[in-house]
Amino acid sequence: MADRVYRITPQLLQSWGVKGLVLDIDNTLTTHDNPVPDQGVTAWLEQNRQAGIQMIVLSNNSPERVKPFAEILGLDFIADGAKPLKKGYRRCSEAMNIPCEQLCMVGDQIFTDILGGNNAGCKTVLVQPIQKEKMAFFRFKRAMERLVLRICPKKRADSILHLS
Ligand SMILES: [Mg+2]
Repeated sequence: MADRVYRITPQLLQSWGVKGLVLDIDNTLTTHDNPVPDQGVTAWLEQNRQAGIQMIVLSNNSPERVKPFAEILGLDFIADGAKPLKKGYRRCSEAMNIPCEQLCMVGDQIFTDILGGNNAGCKTVLVQPIQKEKMAFFRFKRAMERLVLRICPKKRADSILHLS
């Protein structure tokens, strides 16, 4: 877990043997439907690039949402990603030519980003959603996530960072 994506440093990723990042968009790199990346995101991507870590966007959102945002970031993307199914992660693995075991999924939702990433054999980091959702369905999902978080073993990527 990490509170924001930029807590996940290239050094930390390299210590896990991670060569590529699979990135969610909504509430991970920016708020829902926001065309502008969240503060610190662009600089974080640049750090990863300089460290030789490849990156791709994997979103369940539509191409109309995903394509322009990925283009701003200069990243390849897969829209309509069908997370938590494995196929989107496999497509990312093929696109980057990196095995799933050397990929790390970064996203804000346990039941899509993290569940799918773990099933596909990727490392996963759950980030805190940038903004609280107002829709009833999302609030229900977040309540379920809190239950899972109570029982799941987890480590804070940002606290690991402070130790190293
Ligand atoms: Mg999301």
